[in-house]
Amino acid sequence: MGKTGKTAVIGAGISGLCAAYWLNKHGIDVTVFEKNTRVGGSIITEKEDGYLIDLGPNSALETSVELRNLIDEIGLGKEKVYGNEISNNRYVVRNGQLHAIPMSPGKFIGTRLFSARAKLRLFKEPFIKPTNGNDLSLADFVRYRLGDEFLDYAINPFVAGVYAGDPENLSTAAAFPKLYALEQKYGSFIKGTIKGARERKKRNEVAKDRAKLFSFISGMQIFPQTLAEKLGDRIKTGAGILNLTELSGKYKLHIRQDGQVREDIFDRIVISVPTDEQARILKDLTPGNAQRIGETEYPPVGVVFTGFRKKDILRDLDGFGYLIPKVENKQTLGTIWSSTIFPERAPEGYAAFTTFVGGSRQPENAELNDEKLTEIVLSDLKALIGLKDNPVIVRIKRWPRAIPQYTMGYTEIQRIYNDLEDKFPGLYFAGNYRRGIGMGDSVLSAHETVQKMITQSE
Ligand SMILES: Cc1cc2nc3c(=O)[nH]c(=O)nc-3n(C[C@H](O)[C@H](O)[C@H](O)COP(=O)(O)OP(=O)(O)OC[C@H]3O[C@@H](n4cnc5c(N)ncnc54)[C@H](O)[C@@H]3O)c2cc1C
Repeated sequence: MGKTGKTAVIGAGISGLCAAYWLNKHGIDVTVFEKNTRVGGSIITEKEDGYLIDLGPNSALETSVELRNLIDEIGLGKEKVYGNEISNNRYVVRNGQLHAIPMSPGKFIGTRLFSARAKLRLFKEPFIKPTNGNDLSLADFVRYRLGDEFLDYAINPFVAGVYAGDPENLSTAAAFPKLYALEQKYGSFIKGTIKGARERKKRNEVAKDRAKLFSFISGMQIFPQTLAEKLGDRIKTGAGILNLTELSGKYKLHIRQDGQVREDIFDRIVISVPTDEQARILKDLTPGNAQRIGETEYPPVGVVFTGFRKKDILRDLDGFGYLIPKVENKQTLGTIWSSTIFPERAPEGYAAFTTFVGGSRQPENAELNDEKLTEIVLSDLKALIGLKDNPVIVRIKRWPRAIPQYTMGYTEIQRIYNDLEDKFPGLYFAGNYRRGIGMGDSVLSAHETVQKMITQSE
């Protein structure tokens, strides 16, 4: 096929934009189709009254050289800001109180987040038999290896914070492949963590719990925006793809733009849209697979940004924020102390919070009206950090389909993507539904896809 011919990227979220940027850099003629009038997908930053408000991802982890190099290459290195040192402190709620997550063996022994029994149970982990390749739900896996309390007070809140998900439903192999591989390879998390760290060092990779947390001075949106500027008029916004069919080894797209539907033919396609949209686009090409792909769950999430006068906050905001375990029976999932992590998020003398609501745990909460949503957020903030007055700013964003859940059986869906790429030469997939749901994994997914395309073009 060579580098000649036309390539279409469908979707201008961070995955599609990165794929298009790298394809263009390799001299491949690329056009990006984005249904919305704006680029960035889940990444949205707004500015209001001196506050910087990220309504999607608030930060990302610098887990790969590819991500770091890309940011430097597009000139955003000087815009990048790392999270304040103090934000290494993270809290989990137990019995209505915040407890710091212990980050050293000494702190682990001293913490009141876990009972003495739970701590002893952890030390047994290296002696528990491996699960022998059975994919268990994350909850069953953790219960088996680490016990109930660790599931309730570490894994459950963590999964709510990252996936807005429920560990009872997530597949360990698909959602936490590295954790799963540790157990398969070394027979234990604890043994594997120690040995794995040495191997990662050799591969020049950074573990997620060690990777540096970053954003940009002007918020996350500058990242997709800058990529879009580099791509210029190769991006067509307000251009949604309705359908894709095969035509003598090429692909015909039905594009809805300016109220009209037109067709165009491409040699290669990269699909970077959420899976319900994929199902619609692929329904004629591969109906059975399209249906399976489209069944992926995306729970709704409500994001509530609030700003307060610092003098009205009773607690010292000395950390990243807190996560709330399901067993605590609260109405929100957790709150990021946004202006502690990145001080420029709020004006001098004020503090900003970003609270997450809903997810798989309480999907109905994400659909509450603004008044109710604000009420539950303020109620949890008051109880957990103490407030003397109302917020000076409230900004709400609802994500009806926030984050794909890699539930039990998701490794089969991941295989479907590989099979489709084999079966339909020139058809590729990149996005947060492939190798991880975070921004860093989305970027890596685009990188892997482009590497594959380039290898196959040579
Ligand atoms: C509330 C929230 C908080 C998050 N927090 C974090 C965080 O703190 N850290 C982190 O690393 N990650 C976080 N994430 C996850 C991360 O933001 C996403 O996984 C990542 O941005 C996904 O990028 P993407 O390009 O794969 O998909 P998307 O951002 O979903 O982009 C897909 C694009 O495709 C477009 N599209 C859809 N259908 C069509 C069509 N038919 N034709 C053309 N275009 C179409 C959409 O409009 C969209 O622009 C968060 C996500 C959410 C929702």
